[in-house]
Amino acid sequence: MKKFVVLCTIVGLLLAACSRGPYTATNKFYKKQAKSYSKILATYPLNDSGTTFVGTVNFTMRAPNFVIIHHTAQGSCEQTLKTFTTPVSKVSSHYVICKSGEVYQMLNDMLRAHHAGVSRWGTTTDINSCSIGIEIDNNGREPFTEAQINSLLQLLDRLKKKYNIPTTNFLGHADVAPGRKVDPNRYFPWQKLAEHGFGYWYDTTNVEVKEGFDALMALRTIGYNIANPRSAIQSYKIHFNPQDTTTVLTETDAKIITSLLERYK
Ligand SMILES: [Zn+2]
Repeated sequence: MKKFVVLCTIVGLLLAACSRGPYTATNKFYKKQAKSYSKILATYPLNDSGTTFVGTVNFTMRAPNFVIIHHTAQGSCEQTLKTFTTPVSKVSSHYVICKSGEVYQMLNDMLRAHHAGVSRWGTTTDINSCSIGIEIDNNGREPFTEAQINSLLQLLDRLKKKYNIPTTNFLGHADVAPGRKVDPNRYFPWQKLAEHGFGYWYDTTNVEVKEGFDALMALRTIGYNIANPRSAIQSYKIHFNPQDTTTVLTETDAKIITSLLERYK
C-alpha cells in the first residue's frame, strides 16, 4: 500500500511538471523581474537625486532605435530558447526566429536584452541599450530558410513603423562588433532586406571612385569601428561583398563603398 502511494505521488508530480510546460518557471521569473522594474518606474516622488521633484506631463518610454540581426550558431531553436532561459548563459535576445518561420518573443521591446555585448556603430557604444536583438536559428554555415526571411521581414516592418527606426540602423552583429562576431553569416540576404527598406544596398552603375579615395576612412564614416582595420574590412565584406573572404580592399570594394557612403552618411 505504502509503495502504491509513493508511486502515485511520483506519477502525480511528473504529470504536474509536464502540464506546467518547460518554461513555466522562467515565465514566472520574467513576470517578477518586469514587476520590479515597473515599481522603479512608478516611484513617486523621485528621491534618489537630492533635488526637488516636480513631475512633468510630457514624457514617454525610451524606444529602441537600432535592430541587430544575429545567427544563433546553435543546433536548434529549442537549444537557443534553453540557452536564453538559463541564467548562467547571461545572454538573450528579444526575438528568435526558427527554421519553420515561427517567431518567439522573449522580452518586451522596451527592455534591454543581452545580445550585442561590446559593440560600436559610429559614436554609439552601448548598443544593447538602444536596440532590438533578433536571433535567427542557423548553425552559422548554412543558408537561412525562406520562411525565416519572410517572418523576419514582417517583424522588421512592424518594428520600423512602431519605433520609427532609421533605414541605416538595421545592422548585423558583425557590423557592430568587428573581429569579435561574424553573424549573420555570408548567406544572409542583406540586399533583399535593403529592397524592403531595412538597411541600404549599393549600386555601382556609373560610380566613379574619386582620386585618393580612402575606403577605410569611408567605412568609418559609414559607422564601422576601424580600430582594427582588418576586422572592420572583414565585417564589411560579410555584409556587402560576401563572396570575397579576404580582408583586402579592392577596386570593386572602393566602388561599393563609394556608393554606400552616399546612402549611409
Ligand atoms: Zn550575434
